Amino acid sequence: MSYDPDNIFAKIMRGEIPCHKIYEDAHNFAFLDIMPRAPGHTLVIPKTPAVNLLDIAPDDLCELMRAVHKLAPVVKQAMGADGLMIQQFNEAAAGQMVFHIHFHIVPRYAGTPLKAGGQVMEDDALLQAHAAKIREALAG
Ligand code: AMP
Repeated sequence: MSYDPDNIFAKIMRGEIPCHKIYEDAHNFAFLDIMPRAPGHTLVIPKTPAVNLLDIAPDDLCELMRAVHKLAPVVKQAMGADGLMIQQFNEAAAGQMVFHIHFHIVPRYAGTPLKAGGQVMEDDALLQAHAAKIREALAG
């Protein structure tokens, strides 16, 4: 599959579609999933145009993992989670819905089952509050 520069995450990075931004550096961008599987569900994406793990350059993947590694403990702490799930899907057959590579950081709470992913739109004010909490933890 070739990379579509008009995929929704590319549009978010260009500021054409709003998002609840958490983080940005020279290589990466992170924002909240609008249909979260748990409160604080964060998506981390590279600025480089890559569909998934099958076409991203190794160095870009390393930079992306650097951001996942930086953000994961901050999301866990900010959201008061007991654990974290990291997910990444490759191709539609594996559950990939947006074709710009991304890692999901999903806070997990003991005894709380996950919601279905990508199905129910979260309340915008709640997303705003969660994003503010995570940004604050990142700054502190
Ligand atoms: P997947 O490609 O299956 O790894 O998941 C794509 C994820 O993107 C899903 O969890 C969706 O809820 C999420 N998503 C889709 N559109 C948006 C958007 N505009 N802003 C934030 N998250 C989105």
